[in-house]
Amino acid sequence: MSITAPKGTKDILPTEIENWQAIEKTASNIFAKANFKEIRTPIFEETDLFERGVGDTTDIVNKEMYTFIKSERSLTLRPENTAGVVRAYIEHNFHRQSPPVKLWYKGPMFRYERPQAGRQRQFHQIGVEMFGIQDATADAECIMLASEFLKGIGLSDLTVEINSLGCNTCRKEYKEQLKEVVKPFLLELCEDCQSRFEKNPLRILDCKNEKCNQLFEINNLKDKISGIKLCDECSEHYTKLKQYLDILNIKYQENPFLVRGLDYYTKTVFEIKSNSLGSQNAVCGGGRYDNLVEMLGGEKTPAVGWAMGIERLNALVPHIEAHKLDCFIVSNNPNEAMKLVANIRNQGYSVDFDYNNRKFTKQLEKAAKIAKHAIILGEDEIENKYLTFKDLQTGEQKQIKLEELYSILLTK
Ligand code: ATP
Ligand code: MG
Repeated sequence: MSITAPKGTKDILPTEIENWQAIEKTASNIFAKANFKEIRTPIFEETDLFERGVGDTTDIVNKEMYTFIKSERSLTLRPENTAGVVRAYIEHNFHRQSPPVKLWYKGPMFRYERPQAGRQRQFHQIGVEMFGIQDATADAECIMLASEFLKGIGLSDLTVEINSLGCNTCRKEYKEQLKEVVKPFLLELCEDCQSRFEKNPLRILDCKNEKCNQLFEINNLKDKISGIKLCDECSEHYTKLKQYLDILNIKYQENPFLVRGLDYYTKTVFEIKSNSLGSQNAVCGGGRYDNLVEMLGGEKTPAVGWAMGIERLNALVPHIEAHKLDCFIVSNNPNEAMKLVANIRNQGYSVDFDYNNRKFTKQLEKAAKIAKHAIILGEDEIENKYLTFKDLQTGEQKQIKLEELYSILLTK
């Protein structure tokens, strides 16, 4: 029996790669303009990093991690990259640099989830993290960057949702209020929500289970609890963020029920949703995490960041056709053909030739499929030292000298 890719993983094929490359190129251009530097951290880390960093009451840590033991060490394939970037920030003493430290990353993440449209077990994220700035300017900068990037890859029809989760003090009362409201129908909720109830009640609001969502509606959950009542400091921070976004002309919707699936957020959280994706409609999630660096053993450092799922972005951007080669050599003389190929590649153009010495008609058919120009190098051409140059878009054909080839290609 033949072996297929593991459930929840996908090959990214040559026919799709141009889209991936375009997204990655736009990201690195736009992030470089905003002075964010790329960082690449390992794909696996000590399991403890995620237990402490992502939070041991989260679905990710409880159910979704790919964990394995090697030499009595427990290691985990990264389910997200903020914890890894924070670990690197601490390990390499980035706090000695004058703030902010602005980093971005891209790469595969691993979560043992139920595969469905927009949800895989190996998926890819692009993300940014910004360390050292307490003011809401940093939150606004990150949201601006996300919105510039999404614009850069040609996406519109997106909604930015924001909320503030406040600090531990603001959340305390809210958690109690939420528990009061949920208690009467707690036993009807899913198992996850029942365990969230004591450990982390806010996350009940992030439940993806349809039955739970129906129960919230039937019981008018959202009418019975308002958003979190913020303390003065958190409230001022949130107001400032909204002012900055207004100044930047970034449209947003306040969603008092937006909580995020990870434990580390404080104050600002946000999501960017597509209005044209199905139920997996969040393309970007992020927020502020002022306690995480300290929790992972560093100095207390304010920070904010976001991550986007590249598969979900790809589902929204139009398919880019594969680039055609500059030239294809049509010839039955492999020695001469290969010499010409080497020459053309050295000049910086892309070119291929027929390795099987097939009939010219076959070679020309192939050329028309994959290249913009054919260069015919038959017996007469070789003997009399010229090339037949054919523009495969217009069909125009002419005899040229090798020296003329590059000036012609330059004009194409
Ligand atoms: P969701 O609510 O869709 O599960 P999340 O809150 O778990 O998302 P984050 O951990 O914040 O997501 O990751 C940020 C982004 O990464 C998401 O908005 C989404 O675009 C993408 N993402 C997360 N999990 C997956 C997955 N299993 N497959 C594909 N993309 C994913
Ligand atoms: Mg999730």
